[in-house]
Amino acid sequence: MPTPHQSTHSAAVTRFAPSPTGDLHVGGARTALFCWAYAKGHQGEFVLRIEDTDQKRSSMGAAREAMKDLSWLGLDWDQGPDESEGERGEHGPYFQSQRLDLYGRYLADLLEQDLAYHAFDTSAELDEKRRAARAAKQAYRYDRAGLEVPRAERFARAEAGESHVVRFRTPDQPVVIKDAVLGEATLPAGEVDDFIIRKADGFPTYHFAVVVDDALMGCTHVFRAQEHFNNTAKHLLIQDALGFEHPIYAHFPLIMNPDGSKMSKRDKDKAVRAAVKAAGLEAPPEGSIDPAVFSAWLGDKKAQLDHDQLTRLAEAVGAQLPEINVQDFRRSGYLPEVLCNFLALNGWSPGDDLEKFDTTFLSEHFDLGRVQKTAARFDRDKLLAFNLDAIQAMTPEEFHERALAHGRQFHPKFIEQLTPEQFELLVEASRERSKTLDELFRSNNWLLLDEEDVVWPVSKPVRKAMLKGDPTGLELLAKVQPLIETIEPFESGALEQQLGDWAAEHCDGNLGRIAQPLRIAVTGGPVSPPIFDTLVMLGRARTVRRITRCLEALASPAS
Ligand code: GLU
Repeated sequence: MPTPHQSTHSAAVTRFAPSPTGDLHVGGARTALFCWAYAKGHQGEFVLRIEDTDQKRSSMGAAREAMKDLSWLGLDWDQGPDESEGERGEHGPYFQSQRLDLYGRYLADLLEQDLAYHAFDTSAELDEKRRAARAAKQAYRYDRAGLEVPRAERFARAEAGESHVVRFRTPDQPVVIKDAVLGEATLPAGEVDDFIIRKADGFPTYHFAVVVDDALMGCTHVFRAQEHFNNTAKHLLIQDALGFEHPIYAHFPLIMNPDGSKMSKRDKDKAVRAAVKAAGLEAPPEGSIDPAVFSAWLGDKKAQLDHDQLTRLAEAVGAQLPEINVQDFRRSGYLPEVLCNFLALNGWSPGDDLEKFDTTFLSEHFDLGRVQKTAARFDRDKLLAFNLDAIQAMTPEEFHERALAHGRQFHPKFIEQLTPEQFELLVEASRERSKTLDELFRSNNWLLLDEEDVVWPVSKPVRKAMLKGDPTGLELLAKVQPLIETIEPFESGALEQQLGDWAAEHCDGNLGRIAQPLRIAVTGGPVSPPIFDTLVMLGRARTVRRITRCLEALASPAS
């Protein structure tokens, strides 16, 4: 039997143990960050273990995505699987589904010593007992019916292949949980019943696997979210039964929305549903999602659309999806170092009102004593402000490089379609206003449109710039078009000079009077980078074509 790994030095070994059942939530990332920082700060090791004992809900794809997310955040692990299907460290495998033999050996030991037993209760029997407990307004606890079967018979029936679970024989004693953040709590005897440690499918339950692995991987510290606090009692009991030492436990506060609700995937549906309702839509916008799916979803507050459907619908109704998972933040153009900084503040603070720091600082200063006990509230505006500050602090070269990398990953069409010079212009024109790396792409979609696809919805600013005044913006636009067709070279300097002269002659030197109609004509809306850059990025031919079409479209606007 392998023995628990005894650390040869006093360094801390922490671990992050995600269940690969979906995308990595920011709360999970925060746990990983604190585990990583603590290990780094204590000359220790950070272990990544994939807890895939729930076979139905786990997937290799999700495990890989979680690894990618951690790498993106810069949280490198010393032990664990690596992205290229190998592993680092000596205590693998690091996927629980590949450790069944190990669990089996410890389990056999407990069975042998009567510290665990095979139980053959059927689901119907257990359901009936749960119902009875509910009816009697009592908390359900397993009644040890399994132990009524004589020991030898239990072993024989299990040996013969009869379906069963293995239950831990919980000693009749109080359990004291010591937590480095929350303090001490005592669970009275009888609180914890004989819980299952191996399921009927032969897989260990989380409680059993986690204890065996934490010991065999030499984990000295177990940090995780507060929702696991109560599980700790079970883990301590199993550790005692197996003769393992107790690691140091710390449970971190949850991260909540500012209104105190749980930050969950449902928030995305909620945001889109609100936008759909505000717009009074009873059918999905053309080309977004299937009408039947739409009405079923709209009619059921609990229904959830999948990621693609939500994205399409959100785009069609102009709703912004709140970021929940690490991938959402990445796609939205947050910087990993900013997200780490911000996540650290959700549950910990270095004191002295210090808010901005990097992960090196965190690893040098992170201590359990300053972890807060109560839930953290996730302030999106503050995160956005942090991100803006970090972008402003970049050199133009760095911003260019990172925007390009973001674009290649999330907006490949955009990058393909622009020449390097055009992209450079776009980046330069956008840097000062960009709160995220994505904004540059999201707000400049006009660049990608085919000339024939540009439309000019008559919003208030469009009406003001195009249809009001004497002469109207539209009249000025018609007048300036021949000049646009001939300005040489079609570059910012020449455009500025000649359009400036033109404005002096035709609109009392008020360049805005012609700049805004031009902007609307070429982008379809009132917001874009500085006008000369906008025109140069588009090029002369496309600019002229869009002006012509705009003049036609707005000559008799629909509204
Ligand atoms: N697999 C568990 C989860 O994802 C980890 C719990 C633990 O850290 O012990 O919630």
